[in-house]
Amino acid sequence: MKFGTKAIHAGVHPDESTGAIMTPIYQTSTYVQEGVGKHKGYEYSRTQNPTRHALEKNIAAIENGKFGACFGSGLAAIDCVIKMLNPGDEVISTNDLYGGSYRIFKTIFEKYGIIFHFVDMQDRFNVEAVVNSKTKLIWVETPTNPMMNIVDIEAMSKIAKRAGAVLAVDNTFATPYLQNPLDLGADIVMHSVTKYLGGHSDVVMGALVTSCDEIAREMYRIQNSSGAVTAPMDSFLVLRGIKTLHLRMQRHCENGEKVARYLTTHPKIDKVYWPGFESHPNHEVAKKQMRGFGGMISFTLKGNNLEDALLVVKKTQIFALAESLGGVESLIGHPATMTHASIPKDIREQSGVVDSLIRLSVGIEDAEDLIEDLNLALA
Ligand SMILES: *Cc1c(COP(=O)(O)O)cnc(C)c1O
Repeated sequence: MKFGTKAIHAGVHPDESTGAIMTPIYQTSTYVQEGVGKHKGYEYSRTQNPTRHALEKNIAAIENGKFGACFGSGLAAIDCVIKMLNPGDEVISTNDLYGGSYRIFKTIFEKYGIIFHFVDMQDRFNVEAVVNSKTKLIWVETPTNPMMNIVDIEAMSKIAKRAGAVLAVDNTFATPYLQNPLDLGADIVMHSVTKYLGGHSDVVMGALVTSCDEIAREMYRIQNSSGAVTAPMDSFLVLRGIKTLHLRMQRHCENGEKVARYLTTHPKIDKVYWPGFESHPNHEVAKKQMRGFGGMISFTLKGNNLEDALLVVKKTQIFALAESLGGVESLIGHPATMTHASIPKDIREQSGVVDSLIRLSVGIEDAEDLIEDLNLALA
């Protein structure tokens, strides 16, 4: 089955009792049992809920995986993956990671004895230099947030297999429409469903997908034992959102390209980071592993002045100043003071998150209006 058909149909069946074509919102915490242990597969909604179950099957299908699990947020999904590890285990990750991922690694899990290495993963030798017998997880984000760096998933998968480590990929920016990490050798795919999968900026949710039985067992055990599950209503909203994921992504890609090309022509703009440019350092890898380049763009201003950047993000009218990304509406953000404020300044600047860096989540409005909006704000 092709992507659009799966997005609309996978995991979803008309309700047997009424024929309702849409999966009902099973707003229930528990399920009546005929006798002790005699039930229809559902006992308690932390463990399993039919609306969530439909969504988990749907997300697994669009990622070409066997097992899906949904969580109360993207970070709760990451939390589940790290809880598969033991004290003394080592993790290798990128040095321009999403700020919240960096924070959960450093401030929550380091004190339980898990060791994190942050390297520039664009060069696989940097990863090979820190791999050792204790490496149990390689955590990739690609494209990265907000520098739009591209990591070669197949190359990382080879390193992980050789080391006997699990490869997990945060696929939030690309979405399963543009990139399927499991097909490239990853063991786990993670999503902040909050972003493109939900797509309408009305739900906070996370997801994991795997095809490995052993990882799936651990994933469901931790999901149930830690209890960071997502709600039936939110599951319904995301099932609805995913039905248009392919259409939205086509428009995000088209608008992303138009806005990125416009930005390169503006005299006040210094650098534009978008993986679709042939001049992007890893454009070839992006072309190899992605089917399009998406609507996330970052750029810097000439002079690298903090005040100038803060003025631009304040002045746009259609691009709303806000955290988050991936919704139908365009957003503008300032990573150094917003999403990446929890990362120390020197570490942040090393990876390119300088004071004038501005990040755009280009929505699915009309590109001409978006360009006009940026033009006025930059003037
Ligand atoms: C937002 C985001 C997360 C965290 O997800 P939440 O749903 O906010 O918890 C993780 N990774 C990336 C790339 C993100 O953009």
